[in-house]
Amino acid sequence: MKTEVKALVVGGGAVGASIAYHLARAGWDDVMLLERDELTSGSTWHAAGLLPLFNMSYATTHIHKYSVDFYKMLEAETGLNAGFSVVGNLRMAQTQARMDEYMLYASTAETAGVPYEWLTPAQIKERWPLVRTEDLKGAIYHPTDGYINPADVTMAMAKGARQRGVVIERKWQVDGYRWNGQAWEVTCTRTADKGGNLIATEEQVVITAEHVVTATGNHAQRTARLLGLKIPAIPVEHQFIVTEPDPALVEYRKTHGEHPVLRDADAKWYVREERGGWILGPYERNAPARFEYGVPDSFRADLFPLDLERIEEEYMSMIHRIPSSETVGLKDDFNGPICYTPDGNPLVGPAPGLRNMWLAEGFSFGITAAGGTGYYLAQMMVDGEAEIDMASLDPKRYGRWMTTEYAARKNEECYDHVYILHHPDEERPACRPLRTAPAYDRQAARGAQFGQVNGWERPNYFGPLGAHDNFDHDSRSFRRGDWWQYAEAEARAIREGVGLIDATAFAKHRVSGAGATEFLDWFTCNKLPRIGRINLTYALTSAGTTRTEYTIVRQHENVYYLVSAGAWVTYDADYLQKAAEDFMDRTGKLVLVQDVTTQWGVFAIAGPKSRDVLKAVLKDADPDTALSNKRFPWLSAREIELGMCPTMAIRVAYTGELGWELHHPIEMQNYLFDLLENAGAAHGMKLVGARAQNWLRQEKSYRAFGTELGRDATPAEAGLDRFIDLDKNFFGKQAMLDLGIRSKCVTLLIDGPEDADPWGREALYDGNTRVGRLTSGGYSVAFGKSIGMGYVAPDLAAPGTRLKVKMFDQLWDAEVTEDSPYDPTNATIRLNG
Ligand SMILES: Cc1cc2nc3c(=O)[nH]c(=O)nc-3n(C[C@H](O)[C@H](O)[C@H](O)COP(=O)(O)OP(=O)(O)OC[C@H]3O[C@@H](n4cnc5c(N)ncnc54)[C@H](O)[C@@H]3O)c2cc1C
Repeated sequence: MKTEVKALVVGGGAVGASIAYHLARAGWDDVMLLERDELTSGSTWHAAGLLPLFNMSYATTHIHKYSVDFYKMLEAETGLNAGFSVVGNLRMAQTQARMDEYMLYASTAETAGVPYEWLTPAQIKERWPLVRTEDLKGAIYHPTDGYINPADVTMAMAKGARQRGVVIERKWQVDGYRWNGQAWEVTCTRTADKGGNLIATEEQVVITAEHVVTATGNHAQRTARLLGLKIPAIPVEHQFIVTEPDPALVEYRKTHGEHPVLRDADAKWYVREERGGWILGPYERNAPARFEYGVPDSFRADLFPLDLERIEEEYMSMIHRIPSSETVGLKDDFNGPICYTPDGNPLVGPAPGLRNMWLAEGFSFGITAAGGTGYYLAQMMVDGEAEIDMASLDPKRYGRWMTTEYAARKNEECYDHVYILHHPDEERPACRPLRTAPAYDRQAARGAQFGQVNGWERPNYFGPLGAHDNFDHDSRSFRRGDWWQYAEAEARAIREGVGLIDATAFAKHRVSGAGATEFLDWFTCNKLPRIGRINLTYALTSAGTTRTEYTIVRQHENVYYLVSAGAWVTYDADYLQKAAEDFMDRTGKLVLVQDVTTQWGVFAIAGPKSRDVLKAVLKDADPDTALSNKRFPWLSAREIELGMCPTMAIRVAYTGELGWELHHPIEMQNYLFDLLENAGAAHGMKLVGARAQNWLRQEKSYRAFGTELGRDATPAEAGLDRFIDLDKNFFGKQAMLDLGIRSKCVTLLIDGPEDADPWGREALYDGNTRVGRLTSGGYSVAFGKSIGMGYVAPDLAAPGTRLKVKMFDQLWDAEVTEDSPYDPTNATIRLNG
């Protein structure tokens, strides 16, 4: 057996096989795959094999689309037919809200090049008369997807991988990982069948691998323990049942083709044909998590007993939708472990804190996602970056705060939510509140409706006092939900008066040491600020795209305070820490990186009256001038005292109004909150949530990380030239220059529907040609209409260009504005006083 390889893939399910195949196809000629049992013996063998293209996430839509296209050509390469039945996929809607959801999704589909059609209930009935349609609003139909045999497609990928030189070894279990500074030493134990069990033998080898990818399916918890990581991939039970032949279906098929995969999302199931009968796959309530602490040795390619009672509701609704199925009996059933993560996206990418260790875990639609995951992960490993931004799948989107209990309960919730309406303003309730800043209770008492960011509770908006428990849930809509009026009033308060925003969830890092200045100068693309000043700057990927946005405060010669997006603490920390280690190895100079996120609370006070509120509580020999432009200029930072609270105040406002961020010791947060609230009362200060802030920043064309800013565009394409210092050398610079300007970030004012704003997923059109997409959307109080930001070809980026935004399947007028349409000269931010 080979004991030295470039890349070792652990796990021979659909995902592992695809990764091995794509690594070889991307040019790595020394790849090995290890499987503890037989290929496909994990979840892959009992999957139903559906390949739904529908997905609300941009990256996942790309991944699924790649898989569907790839599986269609695999037979030509390998000679193996994986049984891909391209029967199409009909997603039905019982309500207008569901149609709204499909129309929002359709924009994402268009931008990823996924074809779809709209069907009326009458058209559905005409084509598939066995389907009851009188209570339907319509459906979205994907003609290009269908279902495949999961085991066969895995075998085809494995054959393709072998043809490209991959070595596949079965009956070898990975039992230990050790990084020797250059490579992984992977301890593997030979397994054997004994009395129906899979047992470990005495035989062991150590394989040295430069890179390791784990794709261990339901065994992710064991993998996590071996690596000393936390991986929130825990399976949940998932069942599907197979009926006896349905005579009506058998009769219909004598003269017609196969039904598409039918999905009645409001009834929470999918149905497809199977040998004259039907397969029903429900996503029912109360499906339990399994194997929280690992898969027992006794569980091999096994199943759980069917729990028919749990799926009774969905079963009855299938009979309602396909009345002929009422009389047919059950032929077979499957209840297997299906891996989930708290947000339903798999965990794909570099493992936190480890070198050359890649995770591909937590797949709930793993047959659909396998092809694309292999393709894009191989790009990341071989080229450094994938062509799409894989951040939404990054394993580091969960921090060390994540526990087994959290993952298990969240994963159960995620399963239960597969077919709920996926409102963009959705907030899921399980495991909350968990991470709360001290002022949480005070904010809750004032009507805060919270969202969860990286586990933190953060006010989205302040609703009516004494609102019932379901107020936020009932407010959600694909149009302007009931929460909209509160966000609108909050945004107005900041433009006209003063508002206070809780920004405690921000990621905060302290970077210090003799090498700190040299390191940050190389790591980020803008000039470093002088002591007491701040700058906005970007860390780039090796491909020249945006990895992280930082507000960087220089506190001393070699001490910096870095603030970045709250959702991405571990993601940012890992990149920063690894880059600092590399720098120290190269230069021998010390760089100390500390994550101080939970030590500092942050309130952002903003609005023309914000200075007046602060003056009332500021302790200074001359409070009247302490916040003036002279003593506290825009883009500077000062240690100030607000009452008894020592505060690092930073004169910036993400809302684009006069304002300060008040970074304070977290244990004094309630004191500071009360102080500011009392002082603010005299000026009509309003508590403001994240939704209003998101609208306001678009009026200033402030890009947000995760929307405008990501690993698929360079800072130059994002239009951030003024924050890029081309006179210095920085990481990713040449790659950024080499990429040029492929598309450009623009701000648009939109004459949209009266009852809706864009969400930031909508397709952009020039006439009838699709030319780009929105990445953010919302409402502008300054202009009294919808606003959005997005990317278009450079020749369409000039202010005044007339475009269209697709919302609810209609094209609405939009105009590209100059950057920062509200207060383009920053006069209000620089207001003196
Ligand atoms: C009832 C049911 C129906 C489903 N239907 C669909 C569907 O229609 N469409 C769809 O896309 N998805 C479906 N799924 C989900 C799908 O089955 C999974 O997402 C997919 O199989 C995951 O593939 P994988 O390669 O990640 O994991 P697995 O198939 O579980 O493979 C992991 C492999 O890793 C091996 N392994 C683990 N640890 C080690 C180790 N230490 N050393 C060596 N080997 C190791 C295991 O033995 C296993 O073979 C369904 C799931 C269920 C339960």
